[in-house]
Amino acid sequence: MLIRLLLLCVLATVATSTPAMTLYKSTDANGEVFFSDRQTPGAQAFVIREREAVRVQRPVLDRPRPGYPQQAYRYPLPWRGGPFRLSQGPNGSFSHTDAKSRYAMDIAMPEGTPIIAARSGRVVKIENDQAGRGNDASGNFVRVLHDDGTQGVYLHLKQGSVSVRPGQRVAVGSALGLSGNTGNSSGPHLHFVVQQRTEAGLVSIPYEFNQPVGVLPNFALGN
Ligand SMILES: [Zn+2]
Repeated sequence: MLIRLLLLCVLATVATSTPAMTLYKSTDANGEVFFSDRQTPGAQAFVIREREAVRVQRPVLDRPRPGYPQQAYRYPLPWRGGPFRLSQGPNGSFSHTDAKSRYAMDIAMPEGTPIIAARSGRVVKIENDQAGRGNDASGNFVRVLHDDGTQGVYLHLKQGSVSVRPGQRVAVGSALGLSGNTGNSSGPHLHFVVQQRTEAGLVSIPYEFNQPVGVLPNFALGN
């Protein structure tokens, strides 16, 4: 963030002292957008004039982040029972630190809790055979491709509990499997993340549940 602000200052200074100049816009693996006066591979060129500099700055500061579509869809809770609480939120310092999981939410719940689809779509990938930590940090999971191209991923499911197969359509509320504690999981919980495919691979994008979810006392909230 600091670097971005510094870049903005440089940008504003240069832009106001030069009638017109070319800037290059690029996005890193984490979805951060940068502007530079140096061309890098894949960067998008902008010729800006003095009074357009403000327009260039604005998208960098807006929320949600540029490059991600507005997430109008609000996700119903993807489980039956509860109430359960968040044990780690977006930007959580324990494990929600990389591009694929930055906006994930962990919900602590007993193993065997029914996990249901929070959004309709088509199952594109599952894992059902992993015991304990296993080799895959995700543990057993279900990946659903939504009709808008985003994907919802339900992680750490109980071995042998996944009840859908790739290619299958699911509706909101369709049973997917049972929660568990498989893969890189420090306790029984569901890790639910929404991702979007980009040139840099799958990246986590912000999402919201359609109702409030409480937080545990040891809640790991980042930044
Ligand atoms: Zn998680």
